Amino acid sequence: MEVYYKVKLDKKINDIEKIDKPNISHIYLLTETKGNYKYHSKLKNLNEDNEILTFALDCNNIVKEKDKIFRKIKNINKKSLKNFFQVIVFNYNKNDKIHIFDLIKSIKVMLLPTKLEKYDYIYDTVCDYLDNEFVCKNICDFKDDKCIAKRDFNCTCGCCRHFKSLFSNKIVQCKYLINKRCSTKCLTCKMFTCSYIVKNKKIKFRIRDIFLLHKFFNPIQKIIILTSYFTPKEKILNRLLMCG
Ligand code: SF4
Ligand code: SF4
Repeated sequence: MEVYYKVKLDKKINDIEKIDKPNISHIYLLTETKGNYKYHSKLKNLNEDNEILTFALDCNNIVKEKDKIFRKIKNINKKSLKNFFQVIVFNYNKNDKIHIFDLIKSIKVMLLPTKLEKYDYIYDTVCDYLDNEFVCKNICDFKDDKCIAKRDFNCTCGCCRHFKSLFSNKIVQCKYLINKRCSTKCLTCKMFTCSYIVKNKKIKFRIRDIFLLHKFFNPIQKIIILTSYFTPKEKILNRLLMCG
């Protein structure tokens, strides 16, 4: 079964739309299998400015082939003049959707024009994924403002608190917690699960399990992502840009 996607090329994250038929111009093949299309072979310096960029990939063996396909994606060196691109997926299997979308999002990262736009898109995409995980799995299970780990304590802010300073034993609530919600978008905090959740629900978010973080950031940037607690998105993005 063939499935077609149209992907918006802006910073927004709700960007992948299933379509009935792609508007065919030239297609760039990311895997070995060929359907009945005419393909371009080179992903570097594509130079037909008016074409709608279309990529094709085969889902057979996508888990095994994912790294290989990603290496091809990393070779894309083209700024699209259109505000969208298309993807043809051969042998679509809904169980592989997460891998297909990881690869489609990686193509988009490569096509976004600036480093800031690329990082911003990755950042928002991963935050959205983590927010969904916490909501859908009801990970922290808040009741009367008390999370499952703090149910028996007089604490109504989950883990949004820290020692006042390095040399103090006084705990204060994070200044970004406003009206019971995080007013900034701290990726590091979103990745965090406390020891109760790790032990009892076996949930821990690791960078190597989140494809875009694992593939697009270097070791220093990964340390930044893992250690920038209580920090607004803009600051984290600046740190990532400085080390990218
Ligand atoms: S991660 Fe743990 S401490 Fe933090 S809000 Fe969730 S259950 Fe509470
Ligand atoms: S920055 Fe972190 S600790 Fe502060 S409110 Fe947001 S999630 Fe909570």
